[in-house]
Amino acid sequence: MTRIAIIGAGLSGLTAANSLKDYAEITIFEKARSVGGRMSNRRAEPYFFDHGAQYFSAKTDEFKAFIAPMIDDGLVKSWNVRFAEIEGRTIIRERRWDDEYPHYVGVPNMTSIAKHLSRGLKIELGTRVHAISKQLDKWSLTDDLGRSLGEYDWVISAIPAEQAADLVPSSLSIYPQINSIKMEGCFSLMLGFDHALPLDFDSALVRGEDISWISLNSSKPDRKGGFCLLVHSTNSWADAHRDDDRDEVLQYLCEQTSLVIGHDVSKADHKAVHGWHYANAKKRKGDTHFVDTIENIGVCGDWCIQGRVEAAFTSGSDLGRRVLVELNKV
Ligand SMILES: Cc1cc2nc3c(=O)[nH]c(=O)nc-3n(C[C@H](O)[C@H](O)[C@H](O)COP(=O)(O)OP(=O)(O)OC[C@H]3O[C@@H](n4cnc5c(N)ncnc54)[C@H](O)[C@@H]3O)c2cc1C
Repeated sequence: MTRIAIIGAGLSGLTAANSLKDYAEITIFEKARSVGGRMSNRRAEPYFFDHGAQYFSAKTDEFKAFIAPMIDDGLVKSWNVRFAEIEGRTIIRERRWDDEYPHYVGVPNMTSIAKHLSRGLKIELGTRVHAISKQLDKWSLTDDLGRSLGEYDWVISAIPAEQAADLVPSSLSIYPQINSIKMEGCFSLMLGFDHALPLDFDSALVRGEDISWISLNSSKPDRKGGFCLLVHSTNSWADAHRDDDRDEVLQYLCEQTSLVIGHDVSKADHKAVHGWHYANAKKRKGDTHFVDTIENIGVCGDWCIQGRVEAAFTSGSDLGRRVLVELNKV
């Protein structure tokens, strides 16, 4: 059977794996201790945070069909809450999200979608692929310590653009395109409170500040735990401050949040910050994935299309289909 190594257990890698698993022997390598990538969550009991993707929409029929069984199983639910647009530190527009244009979340957290997709797959967690090289007609993968991770007929990279450009050989025909795409960072501020704050919104887009998003994570469906806020910095602020001392980042984002919501958050019961070097990618037209059919290597990820959950699905699904064609399975 064809052996395929997939690097990355975010939504794009898991989607590609599920498309291919009946036709090839798949091994997924994931550097983190859990699956989900940027659709993951943090726990600091009694507080729970989706610190990456906040929600997602479904525009294409294929993605709608993909999430339909998860909706039936209660694994994905609509987050129907009070949404506000904040500018000049005041709410300039507000509306209620509803089922007419659903804003979906994983239940009981974002990671549950990836966990569901991981069932039955062979996933090596805590394994960072450090290098890949082609010897004769096989790809060899090695980890951080130089240990072999095996030989494969195909390799699929399902990791952020810059990390893919570091890993795939620069001699590949698809390399210049991969290397031309730059992603943007983001800081996630996680705040847990032992009492509820009287907010006029549950989710808010913020303009004109160094923070861009505030959500009441505990207002998402079926969340356990205490009152907690999740705040995102703007991508530009994160890129300008990516190497700053984390305590200073945390303090600054707390100050920004306090100013925007009109409540002092510095006394929160729980405060933490997470930095994403590669959080977001601008919308681009063209290929939804990249593939070199001479060398048997494919590259997918949200960034091929746009920094969105649905884009990660589309990229992984399209690449999976393309590899099946190459394997003469469709
Ligand atoms: C702060 C933030 C907010 C967001 N908000 C939203 C939102 O509200 N709505 C929305 O639709 N989208 C949002 N997104 C984007 C969404 O999360 C992504 O589009 C999607 O999760 C990307 O999936 P992916 O599989 O392409 O990549 P990832 O989820 O990044 O998966 C890549 C995986 O590869 C692993 N990896 C990397 N390098 C290696 C290696 N060398 N070896 C082994 N494993 C490796 C990583 O650990 C990771 O698990 C947000 C993202 C962030 C960070």
